[in-house]
Amino acid sequence: MAEDRSTRVWDLLIIGAGPAGLTCAIYAGRARLSTLVLDRLGPGGQVALNHFVENYPGFADGIEGLKLADEMGRQAERFGAEVEAGEVTALAAAERPFSVQTEVGVRRGRAVVIAAGCAPRRLEVPGEQELYQRGVSYCATCDGPLFSGKHVIVVGGGNSAIWEALFLSRFASKVTVIHRRDKLRADRGVQERAFADPKIEFLWSHTVTAIIGENTVRGVRAKHVASGEEREVAADGVFVAVGTVPQTEFLPPEIARDQAGFVVVSPSLQSSVEGVFACGDVRSGGYRQIAFAVGDGALAYRSARQYLEGRP
Ligand code: NAP
Repeated sequence: MAEDRSTRVWDLLIIGAGPAGLTCAIYAGRARLSTLVLDRLGPGGQVALNHFVENYPGFADGIEGLKLADEMGRQAERFGAEVEAGEVTALAAAERPFSVQTEVGVRRGRAVVIAAGCAPRRLEVPGEQELYQRGVSYCATCDGPLFSGKHVIVVGGGNSAIWEALFLSRFASKVTVIHRRDKLRADRGVQERAFADPKIEFLWSHTVTAIIGENTVRGVRAKHVASGEEREVAADGVFVAVGTVPQTEFLPPEIARDQAGFVVVSPSLQSSVEGVFACGDVRSGGYRQIAFAVGDGALAYRSARQYLEGRP
């Protein structure tokens, strides 16, 4: 008879299968805690969207983001953690055991770890939503090859934007980075590579005020931040890389969040509800790096295990 997964109670429910959630799952699985990891898609998180990761220890030549995510997922499953695809839409933090609502049904756990990470921040300008997937993208790794021989724009000045520009320059005839300041936020070494790339140009001190096009992107309107002067920049694609926002919409009000929406945690990563922990990009006061998420995932495991064992 098929198992009724809606009545089963796992020791640990982990929401999010990025590096933080999967590290927590690796530790929990090895410690023989019954562990269910829930994710919209399966193992991945933001790291799977990174074309290449160079600063995660253990990979001297770097590693593709997708491969790193896949390895972490397989490692968690090898120790018995289950990874289930299905978006989490609600967490009942007042119930014991805790329960979460997912697209595929209710799942219950004695402790919960929120590792839901972040999603790309939108520019919130006219044309962005209408032209999404018609030239507007938030993922160069996913969509870059579609722009072979074309001119693309990257909006932003952080590590993500510059890595995206470098990746896109393999395919595109030209990449224009539009940044709202006159210097980049990205790491120096990454900046230097972009400055040395003959296909990458910069439009400094401009914000994008609209993405234009009818059925597909034709370009953007960009405004100089000091003079207010507007111009049109023609392009076939626009890659938006202006940071990330925490994915916390599904959380109930009793899980405290800071002003930007990140989950507030104690030093042991417990949220405002006992037995509910948060780790990685989604929690307040973190450092949005894979190495940091991995350490956070291990700490969340330790704290959750102590909670399950009734230890202070
Ligand atoms: P980020 O570092 O926060 O950079 C966001 C960029 O977008 C900034 O340049 C910011 O401008 C700009 N921006 C923000 N809102 C904007 C708006 N409304 N309009 C126009 N521009 C806007 O975000 P990220 O690049 O996604 O990186 C997130 C974290 O992941 C960082 O800690 C980063 O180091 C890390 N990361 C690391 C790697 C790596 O390989 N090491 C790769 C990717 C990401 P200002 O500069 O003016 O604020």
